Amino acid sequence: MTFENLKLIEPILRALKHEGYTTPTPIQAEAIPLVLNRRDILGCAQTGTGKTAAFAIPMIQLLSQERNSNAGKRPIKALILTPTRELAIQIDESFTSYGRHTSLRHHVIFGGVNQNSQVNALRNGLDILVATPGRLLDLMNQRHVNLDSIQFFVLDEADRMLDMGFVNDVKKVLARLPLKRQSLFFSATMPPAIIQLADTILVNPAKVSVTPVSSTVDAINQSVYFVDKKNKKNLLIEVLKGDTIDRALVFTRTKHGADKVSRDLSRAGILAEAIHGNKSQNARQKALSNFKSRQTRVLVATDIAARGIDIDDLSHVINFELPNMPESYVHRIGRTGRAGANGSAIAFCDAEEKEYLRDIQRLIGQQIPEKDNLLFPLMNHTVTKAAPRQNRSQRSNGNRNGYGRSYSNGR
Ligand code: AMP
Repeated sequence: MTFENLKLIEPILRALKHEGYTTPTPIQAEAIPLVLNRRDILGCAQTGTGKTAAFAIPMIQLLSQERNSNAGKRPIKALILTPTRELAIQIDESFTSYGRHTSLRHHVIFGGVNQNSQVNALRNGLDILVATPGRLLDLMNQRHVNLDSIQFFVLDEADRMLDMGFVNDVKKVLARLPLKRQSLFFSATMPPAIIQLADTILVNPAKVSVTPVSSTVDAINQSVYFVDKKNKKNLLIEVLKGDTIDRALVFTRTKHGADKVSRDLSRAGILAEAIHGNKSQNARQKALSNFKSRQTRVLVATDIAARGIDIDDLSHVINFELPNMPESYVHRIGRTGRAGANGSAIAFCDAEEKEYLRDIQRLIGQQIPEKDNLLFPLMNHTVTKAAPRQNRSQRSNGNRNGYGRSYSNGR
């Protein structure tokens, strides 16, 4: 199966080539033709399966074909609702990537920041709006957003939306949408409350779901060090000493953090470079190729910068800081252990990050074995004995680990 088989238009095929995508993921192969055929979708899939492209690509195709005949006017035609700011930004970036050769305009709005630039973008006219519920309602109430012309509505991560208490906000938005529209609904889990919500949104939906394929998480040797924040730098240097670790991709939460870690490592004589969004495309490309050609041993990256990068034979991923979204952990460690190779993922967890670790362990359905940390032990930490690992069939149904990776091998 190729993207050409999915009858995508040339500007999209070119954009996907640019992204380095060769093969559609299972959810893309299933959902894209259905969306192009104007079906509503009930999708059971989580982050990491390629679901963003599964809805974004056909929407871009249908909207850009329409725009040609309707140039000039820019009422919002597509709305994507997602629970968190991080997801909203990622989805908006996906529209930038896949729609780069079309003339569609899109923008993202979320709370916690000044609304002025968001209002300006809305005034200038948009085809596609990506939003978190609170800010959307806020701007709707201020009459900056009009949803009368919506043709596509996507509800992303519906279960998380409910968990985070956004159900009433979602219902208020729904009440303002035209009845005649195409709706796409995605959720990682399908408990009764979600099915009920889906029933109120979708009309005769096609059901698509990604069955868990041999999971990334199971193929990777994971471990965690508990360490004080101030000692993470020294622990990292210690861990990288010697030759057990051939090369490592190190993750930080922030761009500033990435720069700092790379500087600290370089000072300690470990060849390292940082890659993140503040760097020019050229600088990022250069850092990546230095790492690939083994001129540098360590690449320090933020989640966003690491999206889509593919490094063959990467032996180690080190989570210098744990991500606040557990799915990001799965994305991060999926960079190693590709194509059946053995990979290792090491996490550094300080006192404040224990909560993130709990979420991660809940998501992957296993406890990550703790490494002894005699040199830089975390203050007031009681060592937890790792529970015996369960095999997949023993894990609870609540385990959302179904990270599909069958498509990543060729990337
Ligand atoms: P998502 O599940 O939408 O968050 O996507 C997970 C990751 O997979 C993102 O980094 C995408 O850029 C990447 N991705 C999505 N579709 C493909 C594909 N067909 N080939 C390679 N990578 C992909």
